[in-house]
Amino acid sequence: MASEGLRLGKYSVGTGDRFAHQAKAQLQACVQALEHGVEIIPVWNKSNREHTIIGSDPVATRVAADAAVKALHWDKPYFCDADHITLNTVDRFLAPCDFYTIDVADAIGQPAPSAQFDDFVKRHSELCGTLRLEGVQDALEITPEVIRQTAAKFLTAVKQAGQVYRKIENAKGKGNFIPEVSMDETDRAQSPVELLIILAAIADEGIPIQTIAPKFSGRFNKGVDYVGDPAQFECEMAFDVAAIAHAVKQYGLPENLKLSIHSGSDKFSIYPAIHRTMRRFDAGVHLKTAGTTWLEELIGLAEADGDGLVLAKDVYAEAYAHRAELCGPYASVIDIDSVKLPTPDEVRGWTSEQYTSALRHVPGAAAYNSSLRQLLHVGFKIAAHMGPRYLELLEANEEVVAKNVTENLYQRHIAPVFLGRDGKGATA
Ligand SMILES: [Zn+2]
Repeated sequence: MASEGLRLGKYSVGTGDRFAHQAKAQLQACVQALEHGVEIIPVWNKSNREHTIIGSDPVATRVAADAAVKALHWDKPYFCDADHITLNTVDRFLAPCDFYTIDVADAIGQPAPSAQFDDFVKRHSELCGTLRLEGVQDALEITPEVIRQTAAKFLTAVKQAGQVYRKIENAKGKGNFIPEVSMDETDRAQSPVELLIILAAIADEGIPIQTIAPKFSGRFNKGVDYVGDPAQFECEMAFDVAAIAHAVKQYGLPENLKLSIHSGSDKFSIYPAIHRTMRRFDAGVHLKTAGTTWLEELIGLAEADGDGLVLAKDVYAEAYAHRAELCGPYASVIDIDSVKLPTPDEVRGWTSEQYTSALRHVPGAAAYNSSLRQLLHVGFKIAAHMGPRYLELLEANEEVVAKNVTENLYQRHIAPVFLGRDGKGATA
């Protein structure tokens, strides 16, 4: 199953742009990486959930991406990702997107018909026994029982991914889009053995995936750092990368198949591990970040002071008042300690500097407040309701906002993951 047609490069970064105003500033971060000799393919991702909350359409993401590429004369590939789509939500993404994150997390655990998984176990006797993967020391022991259990748990999800894939293929034609399968928004991490078995099933299903997003152990909350053991993550990632390389050879999946890490942004404590593992295996990665660009917009507006700071404070006051309803849809990916949330009155009295340093995620900075950051992260609905007042201020303060957007993406994400640096030139 060679990847015919569109092909995702070795290094790629997914960025979200909630209000479709920062594509140029985001692309500028890829331009900077290229100036440092590393080609990173930009992918603009926005899920149906975000489009629905904001009231936007996937066409707007495409228009903004195309305009940014034109303005910066970017002559490398770029993509628009229909993020976390399902059979029910894919339709309006068919025309404007060329990258599809097929989300089948909800189907994990739905029992497969027993004939189906008996058949799978028979067909995949090669998985049984002691399996040595290139580049990792410990062998994997896989028993028929493990294959049966894994197939029972994941086959229905993979079949569903096949249905979604074929729907997209019928609409767009083979090779005209990048397919990804994501299983990250579920309650339990997948082990490397499970990943390998899932990949065998995906190959059986005929999906030429170029990226796969498993759930890793540890917490990947939106916009804040990793919660878990970075050493364990590194070990797990190494096995996953080795399992992918094995599956590419064994099952003929596209040779550029790589991990998609749905990081939720800001996983600073594991970025060095990601970089080391990529180097160790000469492997690529798709680093998907969340819509934290919206937080950089708020930081930029607060930094601009005046009306911008007033608006940033209004957003906080509203988000605080509606925190229960805003957090609801994101319950599995945020952890807010309400005791740590300042009252809106307190924030009213803040200077520009106090606001930006509470919100800006500089690890170890004393004023940084992760609860406030997470609340504002899910608070983009407030800005969406402000409509023109928000967008006009964004436009009026384009320069300071863009500076924050580019710097955040380049220095805090791209440089440590892809260049192995802290963004200021030092080696991490
Ligand atoms: Zn995800």
